[in-house]
Amino acid sequence: MPHIDDHDDPQSHTQSHSQSHSQSDTQAAAVTPRIQDWHAHVYFDASSRDAAWDLRQVIEARLGDVVALGRFHEKPVGPHPQWSYQIAFDDGQFRRVFEWLVMHHGALDIFVHPNTGHALSDHRDRAVWIGRSYPLNLGIFG
Ligand code: ZN
Repeated sequence: MPHIDDHDDPQSHTQSHSQSHSQSDTQAAAVTPRIQDWHAHVYFDASSRDAAWDLRQVIEARLGDVVALGRFHEKPVGPHPQWSYQIAFDDGQFRRVFEWLVMHHGALDIFVHPNTGHALSDHRDRAVWIGRSYPLNLGIFG
């Protein structure tokens, strides 16, 4: 639990601190983009194809109300070096979907990334992996 000091009256500090803080706070807000939604890409290949399809069926049954499933690509597409399918979900569902995937992905690897409108950064700098990680084909983002 973060400690909150109830005895420190914020009003008494407003005058002295507001000047120095306002500039940096404004800059930080300007350079940190907002997360619009999330993608989880389930990776597989010929040998794990059936496991990937089975997982997809379970995802549809258990998370179908909060996720949108993409096509089942039996070839590498976009920046993804493996065969894959996409699971899209809102930021407000992150905890439910991520926790479920962490507990149920089995031997499959899953690449998770936010969408902020900055595709290169989202795939390169903000990547989260469940299982093993892979180098992505980032060249497609220019
Ligand atoms: Zn994606």
